[in-house]
Amino acid sequence: MQHLDIVPRQTLKNIKPYSPGKPIWEVERELGLTRVIKLASNENPLGPSPKAVEAIKNSIPELHRYPDAGAKLASAAIASQLDLKPGQLIVTNGGDELISLVSEAFLEADDEIVIPAPSFSEYEFGAYLMGARTVPVPLTADFRYDVDAMLAAVTPRTKLMYICSPNNPTGTYLPEAGLRRILDTIPKHILVVIDSAYSYFASADDYSSGLEFVRAGYPVIVLQTFSKIFGLAGIRIGFGAAPESVIRTILKVKEPFNVNALAQAAASAAITDDEHVQASVQVNEKGREQLYKGFRELGLAYTESMGNFVLVELGPDAQSIYEQLLARGIIVRYGGTWGLGGHVRISVGLPEENDTLLVNLRAILQEQKD
Ligand SMILES: *Cc1c(COP(=O)(O)O)cnc(C)c1O
Repeated sequence: MQHLDIVPRQTLKNIKPYSPGKPIWEVERELGLTRVIKLASNENPLGPSPKAVEAIKNSIPELHRYPDAGAKLASAAIASQLDLKPGQLIVTNGGDELISLVSEAFLEADDEIVIPAPSFSEYEFGAYLMGARTVPVPLTADFRYDVDAMLAAVTPRTKLMYICSPNNPTGTYLPEAGLRRILDTIPKHILVVIDSAYSYFASADDYSSGLEFVRAGYPVIVLQTFSKIFGLAGIRIGFGAAPESVIRTILKVKEPFNVNALAQAAASAAITDDEHVQASVQVNEKGREQLYKGFRELGLAYTESMGNFVLVELGPDAQSIYEQLLARGIIVRYGGTWGLGGHVRISVGLPEENDTLLVNLRAILQEQKD
């Protein structure tokens, strides 16, 4: 073996690899199981929008062509659905790419980003990629946003503030009044990133996805994804909505062909598929209630969720219970990566999947008592 002197950028020392939910095939292979249930990545248990699947099939014969670099048809479809102008949109290779692009477009070394904690890990990733610093602001003890603390964390070095609502992994949200107070108070040179990846699942009357603030011209960018309600996580597509000048800046760092042709076709169809959206919302609302009821019967504390997942408190045995669920072919997400070592996050599945989870959880808790 030759000795290599290649030196990575210093800031990469901060970056930990992303820990995704284990894929079904891997658990099946490792444990020799045939029926594995994945409730770990907040995917849509109904599957993809059928209209999107049809659009993908129709696009296959054209795969020798490069995709549209501007994703114009997808932008137009999204814009008309959400009452925005196409110039207020950037279509990206998943919402994750938008976070990287925003980081590349706005962060200098040693700039600061204000992030809620615990929350989605990609915000931190974007900051570290650019040598910027994170300023985490803890949620309250019951996982609500602390608006005063978010505002107090702002310094002259702050460039971005992230608000994840509904928040992953807690399922809690920032009510419209709190969002408005932040946007009306915060210095105008700070871009507020409103991550509303789960907006379609949020049923509270005082919820805001942030899009109204984009339409009103505030310095915000709203992140949305086709991975959750639209059931297209595997094909990678999402978008950002922001004032046109913000979009123009972000477009400067975008690779020309960032979104593949099948994803563009799928998104254009999925965004108009109200039937699939409504069915997905209903399955999720029923599933959340089913899980809540099950957790109450097991005496487990949970956080009411506006997303398609529920954070449950299992106490000191949480990691062991997570592992026992895995051994029984049920994949959930252990909370350790968020500093929630006593919790797991469980995605809402189909009724029978939720039931299988609850039955197995009961058995594991019972074994522990015996
Ligand atoms: C899933 C998710 C995203 C985007 O995911 P992509 O699959 O990259 O589109 C963004 N933010 C949060 C909080 C998420 O949970």
